[in-house]
Amino acid sequence: MNIIKSLLLICLTITLSACFPSNPSKNTEVLLQGRTMGTTYNIKVVTTEEEIIALKLQQKIDAALQQVNQEMSTYLPNSEISLFNKSSSTEAVTVSPGFARVLKESIRLGKLSQGKLDITVGPLVNLWGFGPEQRPEKIPSDELLSTTKQRIGLDKLILEGDQLSKKTPDLYIDLSTIAKGYGVDVVAELIEENGFTNYLVEIGGEMRLKGVKHTGELWAIAIEKPILDPSGVERAIHQVVIPKDNAVATSGDYRNYFEVEGMRFSHIIDPDTGKPINHNLVSVTVIDPSSMTADGLSTTLMVMGMEQGMRFAIENDIAALFIAKTDDGFDEQFTVKFKQYLK
Ligand code: ADP
Ligand code: MG
Repeated sequence: MNIIKSLLLICLTITLSACFPSNPSKNTEVLLQGRTMGTTYNIKVVTTEEEIIALKLQQKIDAALQQVNQEMSTYLPNSEISLFNKSSSTEAVTVSPGFARVLKESIRLGKLSQGKLDITVGPLVNLWGFGPEQRPEKIPSDELLSTTKQRIGLDKLILEGDQLSKKTPDLYIDLSTIAKGYGVDVVAELIEENGFTNYLVEIGGEMRLKGVKHTGELWAIAIEKPILDPSGVERAIHQVVIPKDNAVATSGDYRNYFEVEGMRFSHIIDPDTGKPINHNLVSVTVIDPSSMTADGLSTTLMVMGMEQGMRFAIENDIAALFIAKTDDGFDEQFTVKFKQYLK
């Protein structure tokens, strides 16, 4: 689903006329593409092919993303996170700076949301069949649900600087809700370190952009309209946003789900119930300077649902767009902070 999401977002990155008089003459948009984190990446840098090759930019990007995976992928059995998860020791371990940065932000958002974003939710994610383990054939029993729920909670995880420890031996952390966004930040920072100020980075639908296109126009992003038709293939542009120098993240429950006896189960878990979310919110888009933060927040708001999410977004000054399914279409709400980015 991520491939479709990526392609769509890139295809729909449409040109809008803007008020930039400059025309960065001989520059072109160099497209760099590849695979990472079980999905694709698409990067556009306003420069020349020669410069990209001379700087070995794509090799540097691939190496940086490989490092992110080596630190935070629960799909790699020997990644830093997997070793921490497998270990039953409650002694503190030293973690890499990148891993510590993502943990710190995840814990901050976890506390801010009173546990709605919870990176220790992994055992529940796996129980419902969305993690590296297999998808279940049937709905877990209440008993299994309640014993699994006892394993989770941010209070069981301690991060002090680069020292990470768990209070309970079987604590399991899952950064999949925020690691893709972090990967985007890593790539964006790398591109800037190499001297570029006009670019767009996208990994599996999470984006961060800066400056202008090669034509001098601002980057514009189309947010797709979720259509819950039986075939699930129909899509259309819902909104066009001009995020300026920011990241855009969307959490949507209309693609990654499974069905049992006609009921849909999302891959997003409400830690309070231990169950997949079950409300009419179909997607949340967040704009923030950090892709990691935008990614984490979009999931947080998704867990909360439209009403609570909207309140939380207003209280915390978050630029957020909510799309909910109604009987006869879609209901859309956005915060004042989001409004400035709408075309
Ligand atoms: P996507 O953008 O691809 O829809 P998200 O960024 O929304 O994905 O993250 C969903 C993933 O986060 C799930 O697959 C699961 O691994 C994990 N997850 C599910 N519920 C929560 C939660 N309440 N807090 C933190 N992580 C969660
Ligand atoms: Mg997310």
